[in-house]
Amino acid sequence: MSDKIQFTNGKLCVPDDPIIPFIEGDGIGKDITEPSQRVINAAVTAAYGNEKKIEWKEVLAGKKAFEQTGTYLPDETLQAFEEYLVGIKGPLETPVGEGIRSLNVALRQTLDLFVCLRPIRWFKGVPSPIRYPELVDMHIFRENTEDIYAGIEFMTGTEKAIKFRDFLINEFGVDKIRFPESSSFGVKPVSKDGSERLIRAALKYAIERSLPSVTLVHKGNIMKFTEGAFKNWGYDLAENEFPHQTYTWKKYQQTLKNEGEEQAKSELEKAKKMGRVIVKDCITDAFLQESLLHPFDHSVIATLNLNGDYISDQLAAMVGGIGISPGANINYNSGYAIFEATHGTAPNIAGTGKANPGSLILSGAMLLEYLGWYEAAEHVYDAMEHTFSRRKVTSDLFSMMEGATLLSTSQFADEIIRNMH
Ligand code: NAD
Repeated sequence: MSDKIQFTNGKLCVPDDPIIPFIEGDGIGKDITEPSQRVINAAVTAAYGNEKKIEWKEVLAGKKAFEQTGTYLPDETLQAFEEYLVGIKGPLETPVGEGIRSLNVALRQTLDLFVCLRPIRWFKGVPSPIRYPELVDMHIFRENTEDIYAGIEFMTGTEKAIKFRDFLINEFGVDKIRFPESSSFGVKPVSKDGSERLIRAALKYAIERSLPSVTLVHKGNIMKFTEGAFKNWGYDLAENEFPHQTYTWKKYQQTLKNEGEEQAKSELEKAKKMGRVIVKDCITDAFLQESLLHPFDHSVIATLNLNGDYISDQLAAMVGGIGISPGANINYNSGYAIFEATHGTAPNIAGTGKANPGSLILSGAMLLEYLGWYEAAEHVYDAMEHTFSRRKVTSDLFSMMEGATLLSTSQFADEIIRNMH
């Protein structure tokens, strides 16, 4: 008998045979979903024999849903994610047209999945543009519900844009709009509550895993009351809620100012020796350079929505690209989580057998970790590394690897399963 995952007293209770809803996805979603599930099933069997098993339950979204039900995101699908708590999805095409929201955004907002988690690690054998990819081990916590992504925008010339502009000028005395007659406007809400819950999740993640640091990435030098406030709230939260598990760069600066360099350095070294998580910050543009030149200086990264979007793709490119970059959208307070391939529907290669299922497979491994099935997740990681180091890859990586063997989507999954035994 399959069972439901429950969330009680802040913890997931996972039965041995949980029902996991999945969305196949559009485009290459059809190509990568079945092979990915085969890999995940094999890893669970390799780790636990017949003791544990995932019961996959398909739910509809995207084109497939529209064809069968006349709507892109049926209520039943949202209800299934609410009922079963943890799910996984392939990529979904954003339907073109006024008034149609991105399905991904709709799912994230409905379940209030405030963390977008993207682990960035390198697998031996994967081509990388950086010199020491083996030293890359980063975990991006991107805020998922606020910022410019809130979708509050007014197109120039519309009644709302004119009203908004006049309000700014007449009520607030704003005189910095360079071309008031032809400006569109966007609003960037960033709240203390929203920032704190994201940063709290990042700090807990780092503390639980004994990771060395959390970097708050922001553009607070320009946007002082949104991104600058994000940084300040982050430092305050670390000092107030995790005083014994963290040491902040803000504290270091204070000691430096009041007691001198020697004392500040000694405090920092002591905190590191005690295994405290070092909380620091970095301006976004500097971070994009820093993370390329010194990736090993950063571990967990907590950042706002738009920054997180840019950073995720750059860091993914450092370790093999979006074809093998996994992701998850999580609400740590309710337990809801949707794991997902981070790439899009890749219509140019859909149905050709060229798609790399790696992103969805690794998202599945993240799901296994979220369930506490770490042994099964390790089987996926090990087998994937074996496969890459033997230069057996799909077409996205094939052209970048000398002496590689080209595999189709399905063959690549088979090879991973073979390497599990
Ligand atoms: P895309 O990620 O679909 O494709 C970008 C490039 O990467 C293409 O050349 C594609 O062939 C390649 N690529 C992507 N995934 C691959 C994989 N697994 N293996 C090998 N190559 C891969 O981005 P796009 O073309 O900008 O977007 C296409 C559609 O996907 C749009 O409708 C967009 O809205 C949607 N999208 C959805 C998600 C999501 O569901 N999370 C994310 C991004 C884009």
